Amino acid sequence: MLLLGNGTLLTLGKKCQVINKGALLIEDGTITRVGKTEELRASFPQAEYIDCLNRLVMPGFTCAHTHTYSTFARGMDLKDEPPVDFPQILERLWWRLDKALTLEDVYYSALIPFIDCIKNGTTALLDHHASPNAITGSLDQIANAAQKTGIRANLCYEVTDRDGEKKAAEGLAENIYFIKKCQLENSSMITARFGMHASFTIGDKTMGKCARIVHDLGTGVHIHAAESTADVVDSQEKYGMGVIERLNKYDLLGTNTLTAHCIHISDQEMELLAQTGTNVVHNPQSNMNNAVGCAEVKKMLDAGVVLGLGTDGMTTDMIEGMKTAHILHKFYQNDPRVGWVEVPQMQFANNARIMANFFPTKMGELTPGAAADVIVVNYDPPTPLTAGNYYDHIVFGMTGRMVETTIVAGKILMQDKKITIVDEEEINAKARELSAKLWERF
Ligand SMILES: [Zn+2]
Repeated sequence: MLLLGNGTLLTLGKKCQVINKGALLIEDGTITRVGKTEELRASFPQAEYIDCLNRLVMPGFTCAHTHTYSTFARGMDLKDEPPVDFPQILERLWWRLDKALTLEDVYYSALIPFIDCIKNGTTALLDHHASPNAITGSLDQIANAAQKTGIRANLCYEVTDRDGEKKAAEGLAENIYFIKKCQLENSSMITARFGMHASFTIGDKTMGKCARIVHDLGTGVHIHAAESTADVVDSQEKYGMGVIERLNKYDLLGTNTLTAHCIHISDQEMELLAQTGTNVVHNPQSNMNNAVGCAEVKKMLDAGVVLGLGTDGMTTDMIEGMKTAHILHKFYQNDPRVGWVEVPQMQFANNARIMANFFPTKMGELTPGAAADVIVVNYDPPTPLTAGNYYDHIVFGMTGRMVETTIVAGKILMQDKKITIVDEEEINAKARELSAKLWERF
């Protein structure tokens, strides 16, 4: 039993409240009481107490699309001409990096961003994994890293035809194995989805197989969709339809499915995404970094698409992503009014909806019954903070590294900036050793 008291509580959720000198009680991984510190301290004197004076206490951030396997790319020399477009970025960087990964690399590539998540207050994420020469067992490696660090993770393997039929079949089998395992374990910490890379690397034969399995297992897919024009051109030329229309043809849209990016989609496809309740994830920094275009965020939200925020591996600090989205869409629309409503809707309301489709636990709010995924931020607002203006405080006054204490499922992973759950130095040293070897193989 853990009691966080004396803080400024920002509850988020449908009835967002700011409670000064607020407290919350955590029991068995769940928030059980929210109220005033004096009352809860008196009622639960036996609870372990954390004092949050002059601190903001809020739900942990969630990331709806990322790739832990990209970790070892940091600082790597491409030993090649710089890529000029998105297909070249994949061919010269990501598809060479992922081929060089061993199972041990996969494990450490996941540990590093998970530790970083703890530091930035990101408590749950949806990962999309590829390691073509270490497919079988790769999802267990990431799951082990998540368990070791205490982060909630939904995992999948990116099925693709880009490395031939055998690898496609192995990717398929890895998804089946891991989905069945998660269905059996029924954990709220590690869950699974069926991963597919993208339409332009999956032919009709493999797509058909994937769809049958997805339907048999009663799950959905996690796939990149219409990230660059190359994906759309491929789909139009080979199949005479857009990427979303192609997924719809295989009956793969719906509340269990997540399509990352959706930059180059038609109005009809946007309508399909909205009607089917498909989860869509915007990754502003990644899209700018890859120069693939800007998603029609405002239009998608207005059309009723469940659009959330991810990072695509760029960072684990969701505030960074929010800041980028906040200014990107003003610039893109040439309208300073854009961002204020759309960004908090994506990061808080819609990511919570998406997480509810990927985990059996309510996340993203400090209310009784919700997951005890809670962060304590060293932010003592210099101007009044209310349920109506908290977004301004987050975007203009905070960074992920202001998080001091991170709790997931009631377990303290970092307290007063000290990572309590793993030996970070040891993990960094091992990761440096492994990444140097990977760079040699690259
Ligand atoms: Zn991605």
